Amino acid sequence: GRRMSAPPAVPPSANSPGVQKSACVMQVERIKAKREERRLQADAAAKRKEDNKRYYGNDADAVEYMQMIEAERTLFQENPPPTRDHNPHAKVVVMVRKRPLNKKEEGSRAFDVITMFDRDTGRLVLHEPKTKVDMSKCVDNHHFAFDKIFAEHTANQEVYDHAVRPLVEQCISQEGCMATAFAYGQTGSGKTFTMAAVYTAAAHSILRSARQYGLRVGISFFEIYGVKCFDLLANRKPVNILEDAKGKVCLVGLVEHPVEGPDQVLQLVEHGTRCRSTGSTSANETSSRSHSVFQIVLKEPEGGQRSTRKLALIDLAGSERGADTANADRKTRNEGAEINKSLLALKECIRALSTGSSHVPFRGSKLTQVLRDAFVGERSRTVLLAHVAPASNSAEHSLNTLRYADRIKEMAPAGQGDA
Ligand code: ADP
Ligand code: MG
Repeated sequence: GRRMSAPPAVPPSANSPGVQKSACVMQVERIKAKREERRLQADAAAKRKEDNKRYYGNDADAVEYMQMIEAERTLFQENPPPTRDHNPHAKVVVMVRKRPLNKKEEGSRAFDVITMFDRDTGRLVLHEPKTKVDMSKCVDNHHFAFDKIFAEHTANQEVYDHAVRPLVEQCISQEGCMATAFAYGQTGSGKTFTMAAVYTAAAHSILRSARQYGLRVGISFFEIYGVKCFDLLANRKPVNILEDAKGKVCLVGLVEHPVEGPDQVLQLVEHGTRCRSTGSTSANETSSRSHSVFQIVLKEPEGGQRSTRKLALIDLAGSERGADTANADRKTRNEGAEINKSLLALKECIRALSTGSSHVPFRGSKLTQVLRDAFVGERSRTVLLAHVAPASNSAEHSLNTLRYADRIKEMAPAGQGDA
């Protein structure tokens, strides 16, 4: 709670014209106010408890877990953990966005298991509901600290401002800059929701500066599905991935659309998004099994000498798909294996960028091979935006996501692989 300061020498207030309150009277008022505050808090907690009971009915399990989580929350709110040091100029930053519980989750009586503190402290707790061997219930509290976190009611604009705008600004101001933002998380955690908003915001900002500096802007949008690459702005035409003698990776045949205004960007985004989801049998299935890459390239007018700047926005395949390796269907199994491989390779490549390691294992997967430029070079910047669903029935996937994000910035002990 707020700390009360010593009684100031108050000038006569509007309510008590001309009367100076004695220190004693003020002390009594403060005590009253405190009591009132406590009463309101207790009322709110009681109401929450009532609501939960009404809502969850005789689902005693859920209610028991929720009470444990509520107790933890109160504890943490009263004793917030210390902030950790953040370096705003780091080459790699890791953030987490939590989406709100949806109707379906509420309908299935799932409850929120993720507590977030302030955006800038980056602290969050995942309360994992567990059953002990004696069948009694408990909650395992997993603590994490990231560069920034975005709680469930954060607007897209705020996410853009804090996660992607710094990349865009760097891209504009620094020649040869390669900026990349990844949306990571299980299917349904909100990756596409975030990225769709980010595409247009970033493009608008880049277009504005391009006009100012007389630069050209080009957009391409493609998908990596298994080990193949498809152009989402050319009816999923296959694109060949070739590496030249210098190790530079080229996407042969990928169309780069010149754009001049926001309307054109919007059209391309819509076209590509439609193309991505209607490509094959089941729409949701396909998009959750592929990585999509939206690229904005800034170039000098013809004949310019300065090097290209690039912003890549990547909507990754559902992180849970990497576990499909035990699936009965062979195609699904192979796809799962490739997704798993690409997400692991991605983690290693971002980590190499973060630690300044000269060995970047980008050949580990198609995804990292295609994005090679994002991991090498002095002017590479990366944001990993991990997405989590808040519901109790997603706790395991969310925990996996948070651990993945956490390890991206953790230094690997020398000579040891990832556990
Ligand atoms: P993903 O791309 O990770 O599979 P989606 O972006 O498609 O997930 O999100 C799943 C559903 O949740 C969509 O209906 C989306 O509109 C909704 N959603 C996701 N994030 C949010 C959010 N922050 N606020 C409100 N609704 C959201
Ligand atoms: Mg999606």
